[in-house]
Amino acid sequence: MKIARDTLKFIIEVSKSSAPKEFAGMLSSDGDIITEVVIVPGTESSDESAVMQLFMLPNIHTIGTVHSHPSGNLNPSSADLELFDKKGRYHIIVGSPFTLSSWRCYNNKGETVKLEVVDYEFEEEENG
Ligand SMILES: [Zn+2]
Repeated sequence: MKIARDTLKFIIEVSKSSAPKEFAGMLSSDGDIITEVVIVPGTESSDESAVMQLFMLPNIHTIGTVHSHPSGNLNPSSADLELFDKKGRYHIIVGSPFTLSSWRCYNNKGETVKLEVVDYEFEEEENG
């Protein structure tokens, strides 16, 4: 599995600007590349409520979840593990200090998986 560099940068930026509140969203992909983040509205500051918000989302076609841990602890909580098991196969946790190396991806069992960061051409509207 892979993730577009720009998508990862977006996740890190929005996590950083949400801190000390937690950011949460769903991931969707183009083939085997994660290219999109669906932001969960009204995400609350605590870990548990962010998780609850994800549970309440309708079944849009997503492949996993992303959320931030402003504490910097990149390990999934027990509530996270429950969520991982229900909401797709790839789950990203971003932590403080919100750099390109302060994140980790897990599978639905909570085991660390490698996500390759790749360059991806986003389609742009043509002018005129
Ligand atoms: Zn969490």
